[in-house]
Amino acid sequence: MKKCARVKSIARTIIWSLAVLLPLMWIASLWGTCYGSVQLVHNGLQLGALVGDGELGFGINSNGWLPASFIAGRDTPAWPREWLPHITTSNSMIGVTVPLWIPWIMVLGLCSLIRRDQQREKQRRLLGCCPGCGYSRTGLASGAPCPECGTLLTPEGVG
Ligand SMILES: [Zn+2]
Repeated sequence: MKKCARVKSIARTIIWSLAVLLPLMWIASLWGTCYGSVQLVHNGLQLGALVGDGELGFGINSNGWLPASFIAGRDTPAWPREWLPHITTSNSMIGVTVPLWIPWIMVLGLCSLIRRDQQREKQRRLLGCCPGCGYSRTGLASGAPCPECGTLLTPEGVG
């Protein structure tokens, strides 16, 4: 249960960080493109990802070698050309592009779920119940784990 709480805490931290990082990336990507790729051995295929023009793109390229990491800047911001996900194909590559606002909205949705979860835990704690499952802890020793789900009652809470 303790390990589970730690994983939950790490996941929450990552999600909150993404909620801040994604809009910053979105703004920064209007002034530049960051391209990262991995060379696959078979047929000289390349797997790449890029952030640029407010978009996040993934693709497979068979057209020779590209740098593993490449950053290109520009003087004026490039307003996003596309606001919806789209598939790009040419004779040497196929790619999927997702505008950054979509993963950001998804992350914000997860943040609101986390917030609701934390409020519920706080509420249960105040009522003297297990923060994990809501089982009444009346009559249990303060250090005893919950008989229902095994959650240990920590003073500061799980996350
Ligand atoms: Zn419980």
